[in-house]
Amino acid sequence: MQTSIATVSLSGGLAEKLEAIAAAGFAAVEIFESDLLSFNGTPKDVARMVAALGLKIVTFQPFRDFEGMPEPQRSRTFARAERKFDLMGELGCDLLMICSNVAPDALGGIDRAAADFHELGERAAKRGIRVGFEALAWGRHISDYRDSWEVVRRADHPAIGLTLDSFHIFARKTDLTPIRSIPGDKIALVQLADAPWLEMDVISWSRHFRCLPGQGDFPLTGFMDAVFATGYEGLLSLEIFNDQFRAGSPRGVAIDGQRSLVYLMDQMQGRPGAPAAATTLPPRARCLGVEFLEFAVDDRAATDLARLLTGLGFAKVGEHKSKAVTRWSQGAINLVLNNDNEGFAHSHQLTHGPSVCAICLKVDNAAATLDRAEKLRDTPFRQAVGPGELEIPAVRGLGGSLLYFVDPNSKLGQLWDIDFIAPKDPERNGGAGLTVVDHVSQSMHYEEMLSWLLFYTSLLDVATTPQLDVIDPGGIVRSQVIQTADGALRIALNASQSQQTLSSRFLSRYVGSGVQHIAFATDDIVATVKQLRANGVELLSIPENYYDDLEARTELSAERIEILRKHGILYDRDEAGEYLQAYTRGFHDLFFFEIVERRGYKGFGAVNASIRLAAQARQ
Ligand code: MG
Ligand code: MG
Repeated sequence: MQTSIATVSLSGGLAEKLEAIAAAGFAAVEIFESDLLSFNGTPKDVARMVAALGLKIVTFQPFRDFEGMPEPQRSRTFARAERKFDLMGELGCDLLMICSNVAPDALGGIDRAAADFHELGERAAKRGIRVGFEALAWGRHISDYRDSWEVVRRADHPAIGLTLDSFHIFARKTDLTPIRSIPGDKIALVQLADAPWLEMDVISWSRHFRCLPGQGDFPLTGFMDAVFATGYEGLLSLEIFNDQFRAGSPRGVAIDGQRSLVYLMDQMQGRPGAPAAATTLPPRARCLGVEFLEFAVDDRAATDLARLLTGLGFAKVGEHKSKAVTRWSQGAINLVLNNDNEGFAHSHQLTHGPSVCAICLKVDNAAATLDRAEKLRDTPFRQAVGPGELEIPAVRGLGGSLLYFVDPNSKLGQLWDIDFIAPKDPERNGGAGLTVVDHVSQSMHYEEMLSWLLFYTSLLDVATTPQLDVIDPGGIVRSQVIQTADGALRIALNASQSQQTLSSRFLSRYVGSGVQHIAFATDDIVATVKQLRANGVELLSIPENYYDDLEARTELSAERIEILRKHGILYDRDEAGEYLQAYTRGFHDLFFFEIVERRGYKGFGAVNASIRLAAQARQ
């Protein structure tokens, strides 16, 4: 199906918005009156600009407070509509969007409204214009699509149709079933928006918290089932009022919008009544785990990080055939240190300092994952490889980093044998009991969070946990996790609006978004922590008060609490089990490692996050 987006969804000036919309591959655009008023040019100039970009204007909006007015307001309202028709003629737009009347002097009455629309239909038809009527969730008399449809039905005019907007329908938790009995050719436009379920006044919810399909909590596939049952074949148009989008880049938000619709149509495939999608996507990639994490380092950081990794129990087990890249491993964990003088990692290091420049995921099918990513408008990445070396499929990830994909069934499964050679005198390290990557934590700007949630959930077979607010000494950090059902992949996304939180200070020191910490799993955290201390690894010290509180709020024996206190281990439990955590001190003040012992526990120790953040802030 063809797609459209409202100019109001993006930041920037009108020209910038239109360019972003065209570049993202939309067929059409909804022009908002405010964008037209602030544009330095005539409506005809806008029409030319839109045509030159290969776009169509699907609708002009909004036209407010039309139906059910008493005289003399009624006559003035019709005169106002005629002026909009003039303007639309210049714009080259044939659909006016009218939202239900909120004016205190509106009279109400379905038949009165229907009569007004019939008359407007007569006037519009003379100019070849159509009108779509939308029920605002807060309309004075019409706030339910079943009533706006009854108005349109009784208006009984070919120029008068209905606009369905998923936000207004879900906001009032209206039954979706009656949509199925609306004839598809009476639906002028379908507008899509998602949103988180929030308990707040509907107008603020609508104007600040709408988001793209897949970024919120609304069951949009159920809405689309009902829309497709009508036989509607028109545009799907995104109308998103969101504060983060207004602060984001118009190009980025437009591409996210396109991604959200490709993903939604992908989810609709095979459902009764859904049309075949223009492009079919391979299924969401099943992630089997983190194959490796790659650190971009300069020579000094390479030496420091090698020392820390040795202390953590890692051994250098491989050297890249053609680059200054080494492989470190322990248990099923692989870390790659890249201090080559050229290539992607080098430029990443120049921008960010020592950093995680890539995460490599082990998936069921790497080629299919890349194919899906490209169809979702993710950004593929390629760089030169040496003769006989593997080209690992990759896309751009958070903060300009890379997300690589390997799988067990292609040559990519032999990555370590093909691209690396074992050192002549292999280092011995008895290890510290670390087994796998438990989770990776990424910090990002607040405006980016929804974008990366959509990136991960559309590409990978992962679910999200509910949003959580964590108290940092410098403000609130919003945290949300994407994870596979079996926990093979867990990525925590953190963002903060305050400049003073550790998450934000990371962004400014690091110059951008990226990996802030990596958690490794152990089966025996006490033994691991003892080993790390014996190896000279500095761990984060936890205040005594924490353990006094633990004694007060848990059933743990004094003996166990003493062990936790002695080793600086944090504790949590949920209905499924216990969680034990310890942290290293920051590496060059940029990132740190966490050690976790997970005994069936599902969460991430959110209760301890403020203790950890305060301890880090003290350092
Ligand atoms: Mg709308
Ligand atoms: Mg953590």
